[in-house]
Amino acid sequence: MDFTDFSEDQVNRYARHILLREVGGTGQAKLLDSRVLVIGAGGLGSPVLMYLAAAGVGTIGVVDDDRVDLSNLQRQIVHSTASVGRPKVESAKATLAAINPDVKLRAHEMRITAANAIDLMSQYDLVADGSDNFETRFLVNDAAYFARKPLVSAAILRFDGQLATYKAHVADERGQHGPCYRCIFREPPPPGQIPTCAEAGVLGALCGTMGSLQATEIIKELLGTGDSLSGSLLVYEGLSANFRKIKVKADPDCPLCGRHPTITDLSIHEGASDGRVCAVR
Ligand SMILES: [Zn+2]
Repeated sequence: MDFTDFSEDQVNRYARHILLREVGGTGQAKLLDSRVLVIGAGGLGSPVLMYLAAAGVGTIGVVDDDRVDLSNLQRQIVHSTASVGRPKVESAKATLAAINPDVKLRAHEMRITAANAIDLMSQYDLVADGSDNFETRFLVNDAAYFARKPLVSAAILRFDGQLATYKAHVADERGQHGPCYRCIFREPPPPGQIPTCAEAGVLGALCGTMGSLQATEIIKELLGTGDSLSGSLLVYEGLSANFRKIKVKADPDCPLCGRHPTITDLSIHEGASDGRVCAVR
């Protein structure tokens, strides 16, 4: 799409973006041509989906196999009381269509698995992880690396959140690249070591804080503007209102993106169980 093709309504809808030098008409047209895959229509997925739709990201895919439960509504703001019992992808699709009819929402009512992850990701420009368990988080990291897609990943538990961008498949002119999730967190923790959101709780508004930061980083990556978060881990501690940005490097011994990789396909994820825990540590 070209800026000159914008309808009057589109010029009006995106006026505050078009005013920004870093976005402008060209950037807005780029967003309308962009395709983002969001893993999970839950606490993080809700604000991510809503801000991406409002921003005019033209194609948004959402993967989730769950239905809306009353206990979700304290934080999963893309769903409403009337949607309890409906598939989350359907409920999210209705909300996004009401926000912005420019956006095509592709509802993938399924669990992301080793068998479908790379094929699914290959249909999009960028992957956003808002999943609620470590198995999915590692699968999404490995699949995004093989599919060569940037991954913007957020995680939450209780009052705390983390955010990072992983682009280990992109090397600079010196052959250097940023870390993947496995460079920082080598493998999933043993089951039961990290409490789940259902066991430990999560502040609803924290999902909004982290999901909005995630949406901002996604839009920056799509536009290629500002400083990429790749190479940093942003940690937010809600109770002390404290942000920390920690430098993280690629690990040359990483089994996925290192010099001598031992993970060369998604076979280690085949037959994974269905454990659901919040992915923050
Ligand atoms: Zn790595």
